[in-house]
Amino acid sequence: MEEAYGILNDGGENAVIGGGAWIRMLPRELDAAVDISGLGLGTIKKEDGRYEIGSMVTLRQVEMFKPFSELFNGIISKSAGAIMGVSIRNIATAGGSVAGRFGFSDLIPALLALDTSLFFHARGGISLEDYMESKDVGKDILTKITIKDHEGRGWFHTMKNTSLDFAVLNAAVSNSDGRCRIIVGARPYKAVPAYDAMKFMDECGGKTPAAIREAASIAAGELKFGGNQRGSREYRIELCKTLVERGLSEVFL
Ligand SMILES: Cc1cc2nc3c(=O)[nH]c(=O)nc-3n(C[C@H](O)[C@H](O)[C@H](O)COP(=O)(O)OP(=O)(O)OC[C@H]3O[C@@H](n4cnc5c(N)ncnc54)[C@H](O)[C@@H]3O)c2cc1C
Repeated sequence: MEEAYGILNDGGENAVIGGGAWIRMLPRELDAAVDISGLGLGTIKKEDGRYEIGSMVTLRQVEMFKPFSELFNGIISKSAGAIMGVSIRNIATAGGSVAGRFGFSDLIPALLALDTSLFFHARGGISLEDYMESKDVGKDILTKITIKDHEGRGWFHTMKNTSLDFAVLNAAVSNSDGRCRIIVGARPYKAVPAYDAMKFMDECGGKTPAAIREAASIAAGELKFGGNQRGSREYRIELCKTLVERGLSEVFL
């Protein structure tokens, strides 16, 4: 690991290779591609009440890991399983998916809806939420992703024009002891929590259908959306209202 980190930071145009599914498609020339596949980062285990996903674990392993099909109604399995076909999911890694902070990511919203932390070789631990907001993430090696194992309800949906396309919009919602998380991704910008809508839900007395509709409207109003070939800004705003309302209804009603 130390050697890999040293090569990554030797001043050249160097990058870590996870599954290599994404990086190989980029018009980018590297001086050194740092292969971390021999560093024992390919397993999922549970320790001290948290699931630990090694950064080289494939999306397919995440999808098929039995406890994830139950944790928060299976939002982790569902989000990983919504990405392309099995052949890509057998190659693309959890680490590459998170480290890349891709706006289109289906996995990141579900992870953000739970208590998720990242561990980097040099930087150490950081919450996924802080990592997503960091301006400069530097050149480091993500070693593992950890998720707290706790009780709660969850909901994830990705809206795609065809199943193998990138999402037009995706959303993940969770309810843990009445505390709500609402995450919206593929706006087409990176996934973010809808803080005002979450605060509204936490503070509103009854989680009624009317309150849920209001929270969905707040989320659509507070977040920034854009248009691209998959959908217009206006369409995404309407989708956001619909998805958040459905998600909140599932986890609260
Ligand atoms: C054709 C195609 C379609 C896709 N469609 C979707 C989709 O609809 N939804 C979706 O969510 N995702 C989609 N993806 C993305 C996929 O889910 C992965 O996020 C992506 O392939 C990156 O994972 P990887 O293991 O291939 O990473 P790589 O391509 O190896 O690396 C990606 C980036 O992360 C860095 N990196 C990798 N591992 C680490 C590490 N351990 N530490 C630090 N940096 C690291 C690399 O240096 C690089 O910058 C698609 C990918 C492909 C190829």
